[in-house]
Amino acid sequence: MKSNHTTGGYIDAWCTKCELELGHTIIAMVNNLPKRVKCNTCNGEHNFRKKLSEKVRTGIKTPARKTRSLEATYTEQLSRLTGGDLSIATKYSLNGNFRKDEVIDHPRFGIGIVLSVIQTNKMEILFKDGARMLVQNQ
Ligand SMILES: [Zn+2]
Repeated sequence: MKSNHTTGGYIDAWCTKCELELGHTIIAMVNNLPKRVKCNTCNGEHNFRKKLSEKVRTGIKTPARKTRSLEATYTEQLSRLTGGDLSIATKYSLNGNFRKDEVIDHPRFGIGIVLSVIQTNKMEILFKDGARMLVQNQ
């Protein structure tokens, strides 16, 4: 990827202090990449971090740490939505009509939580081992 960033230039970056994606000024470059940046909001200096959205988009295999936190989210959401009673889960079927936050029971993937419904016939489900796209209303 070609970089047109220069020292003193503007860049969107993750601010470690504000914990937000904000405009930063590049204060040091290494190998044509921003190395150190200064937050235009809090004036804090820190190493450059990419925007979170870019990290997600790169689709790099999730490291073990992230997998654990996904599992924690899964467990937490599941107990919030079912109160620990998994028998309330709806059996998944292709012609089902599921809503966000519904808990489903998939014959292959197990218990999942509907994260979002996309275009009425696709939905993103969070299973224990990660999110999957499933169809519905077929
Ligand atoms: Zn900041």
